[in-house]
Amino acid sequence: MTYDAQVLVVGAGPTGMTLAAELRFQGVPVTVLERDLEPTPQVRSLGLHARTLEVLAMRGILPRFLDLGTTYPVGGVFAGVGAGRPLELAGRHAHVLGIPQTTTDRLLEEWAVGLGADLRRGAEVVAIAQDDAGVDVTLADGSTLRAAYVVGCDGGRSTVRRLLGIGFPGEPARSEWLLTEAEVGVTPEEVTAAMAQATPGRGGVGPAPHAPGTYRVVLLTDEVAPRDAPPPTLDDVRAQLHKAIGTDLGLHSPRFVSRFGDATRLAERYRSGRVLLAGDAAHIHPPVGGQGQNLGIQDAVNLGWKLAAALRGHDVLDTYQAERRPVAADVLDTTRVLRVLMWGGADGAAVRSLLTELTAYDGVHRHLVEKVTRTATRYDLGAEDPLVGRALPDLEVGAGTLFDLTHEGRWLLLDPAGRHAPDRHGVDHVVADCPALPAPAVLLRPDGHVAWAGDGDLTEILDRWVGRG
Ligand SMILES: Cc1cc2nc3c(=O)[nH]c(=O)nc-3n(C[C@H](O)[C@H](O)[C@H](O)COP(=O)(O)OP(=O)(O)OC[C@H]3O[C@@H](n4cnc5c(N)ncnc54)[C@H](O)[C@@H]3O)c2cc1C
Repeated sequence: MTYDAQVLVVGAGPTGMTLAAELRFQGVPVTVLERDLEPTPQVRSLGLHARTLEVLAMRGILPRFLDLGTTYPVGGVFAGVGAGRPLELAGRHAHVLGIPQTTTDRLLEEWAVGLGADLRRGAEVVAIAQDDAGVDVTLADGSTLRAAYVVGCDGGRSTVRRLLGIGFPGEPARSEWLLTEAEVGVTPEEVTAAMAQATPGRGGVGPAPHAPGTYRVVLLTDEVAPRDAPPPTLDDVRAQLHKAIGTDLGLHSPRFVSRFGDATRLAERYRSGRVLLAGDAAHIHPPVGGQGQNLGIQDAVNLGWKLAAALRGHDVLDTYQAERRPVAADVLDTTRVLRVLMWGGADGAAVRSLLTELTAYDGVHRHLVEKVTRTATRYDLGAEDPLVGRALPDLEVGAGTLFDLTHEGRWLLLDPAGRHAPDRHGVDHVVADCPALPAPAVLLRPDGHVAWAGDGDLTEILDRWVGRG
């Protein structure tokens, strides 16, 4: 069977580029089809959470992000609840990294392309047809490409999801905001004075943390724009700002103007035959807690090695939906709670006060923070051992750390006692001290989650999880 690429990824956002990089680690030829000719100037996300930082550290590229961002403590990520109370999370990457999405997206693109991903811009997918052996993708210019698998990472309004006929049930947007980064025609003191008059919950104006001289403006609008409404303009922002604080602050020279809403939806399925969905194409929610980009990157890390395994004839692709859809459902619920805390008026304030009292209990505080940092996600792999399905933090192993050993996305058999284990494709058998390892040995998947932990026969364990190849 001739393919133009083994895998076609639709969309070069953070999800698509992370998936492309993960596929390259597995030696899979991948082409990314991106509609836009240039990366978007829109700065949506302003930060990354701890599990994403762990994932980037696992692949050895975290320093590139740390160099261009600012780290903050994790306390307070649950809409500020418990902020200021000390909280220790396991692992050396347990913080928030403030970094604009345009920078994150650029670094992910450079990473994937550097690993050999073929990125084609100006390539809009308009049709998909699949048969038993592959998928044909048609682009807006009429050309077609064939691949063994296609993954729709094409955002909340996913064309791939629509073409597959996959339902996207949930709540429509009830509120909408305008977002811009622009310069102001007044002094910083005048901005502060004007914002003091603003009604809480209707948005605000503040210095853009990553762009000196520029202000980030987020404003609640009067109504949700229809789906086919033209893009918003700076005049729309000025008018809304005038209504909110009685002045438009002389706003000018915008870097971009956009709108976003609080629609909350989850795809009914993540897979239809040889086509899968990841990132915003599979789940959308309001940006409270800053989780969408993180969730998409983590979807991609779960899916990459599974696609590679499927291409080698070991189809574990259904585990992708089984593991990742419940995580997205939980994130959606978390954002429903955060929405109430942030915009719920007196009801929200009462819930906040109760939760703040409860954070006096360390376990409660930790649980709330882990809802957002996603450092405690456990996949149900059918084992009772609470370690199985969890991601290990960056433990000390030998003279280095665990994540020094995971840069190439291979399976890892961490076996301090050094027992007999047969050679298996894509598996590293590491015999080294690991004082904090909570089991005699563990088998770690390429995404860093524990597939098996214990003291059993390693040949049998490897046969079961990675096959005999
Ligand atoms: C105001 C705001 C603040 C946010 N803050 C945070 C935050 O702090 N932290 C966080 O984690 N998340 C945050 N998010 C969410 C985050 O921006 C998204 O979840 C993230 O961009 C999703 O990544 P993605 O790759 O799945 O989709 P996208 O980033 O939407 O990328 C999809 C890509 O697919 C392309 N595409 C679409 N259709 C086609 C087609 N037919 N053919 C080819 N290409 C196509 C698009 O051009 C685009 O490049 C925020 C969102 C908003 C709106």
